[in-house]
This record gives sequence, C-alpha cells and structure tokens, in this order.
Amino acid sequence: MASVFSKIIAGDIPCFKIAENENYFAFLDINPLTKGHTLVVPKVEIDYIFDLNDEEYLGLHQFAKKIAIAIKKSMPCERVGVCVMGMEVPHAHIHLIPFSAMHEMNFANQKLILSKEEMQAICLKINNAFLEE
Ligand code: AMP
Repeated sequence: MASVFSKIIAGDIPCFKIAENENYFAFLDINPLTKGHTLVVPKVEIDYIFDLNDEEYLGLHQFAKKIAIAIKKSMPCERVGVCVMGMEVPHAHIHLIPFSAMHEMNFANQKLILSKEEMQAICLKINNAFLEE
C-alpha cells in the first residue's frame, strides 16, 4: 500500500506544498514543532533514508538545502535545524525546523495547532522565497 507521503505526492491527500521537482517534494508538517516545519521527501517510496542510493540520497539533501534557504529567508529564526526520524511514516524524509532556541528542536514538545489559514500563509511565504532563489 502506498505510504501517506506517496499519496500526498500523487495529490490523493491534500498538503501545504512548498515545492517539488522531478524527484523530490517538500510540504509543511501537519503537526509542526515550529512555524515553517517542513518535510522533504524523495518521490521514490523507500522507508529508511540510508537505503536510498547515493544519487537519491545526495539529491534529497541538495533539494532540502534549497528549501532550508527559503525557510531561513521567510520565517523568523536563527537557524534551520535538520532532523531525520522516520518513526511514524515509513517513507524517507528530512525534517527542516526553523528555530531560535535549542529547546524548540525537541520532538517531545507539544506540537503547534495552527489554523488552515495560518498554514496556508506560512506555505505561501516559504514558496515565494523558494521561487525568488
Ligand atoms: P517521523 O516518521 O517520526 O519522522 O514523523 C513523521 C512526520 O510526518 C510527523 O512530524 C507528522 O506530523 C508528519 N505527518 C504525518 N502525516 C502527515 C500529513 N498527512 N501531512 C503532513 N505531515 C504529516
């Protein structure tokens, strides 16, 4: 069965899409740790990130770098943190998390509850910054 992220990529499940290219896709995490928390995924459905071949692995990180630059430009933060977990969704992905204080990078923190309108506004800001790159 297709992973939830494959369904998002296929357009079968809605998302707040930041950007995509031929092989990679970026969208807002639905339960963000901070405003602008983004997931970057390969379109190929592989569970464990270190099972990607070198080309896929490097390509994913190159795409994530572009997205991180757009997040940094558009969201108030000191840095964009990078994290790989994969405990919940069996489809490789990189978390990009804008943060200004160390405690914000803690996955045990309560997730933010943002309105659809706020998610949409954040998505638009990051997307615009990405398109300006
Ligand atoms: P993990 O697999 O542990 O790296 O966590 C998976 C992440 O995917 C979590 O932060 C979830 O909030 C996020 N997530 C799960 N389903 C969706 C969805 N439909 N849209 C956006 N993010 C999602």
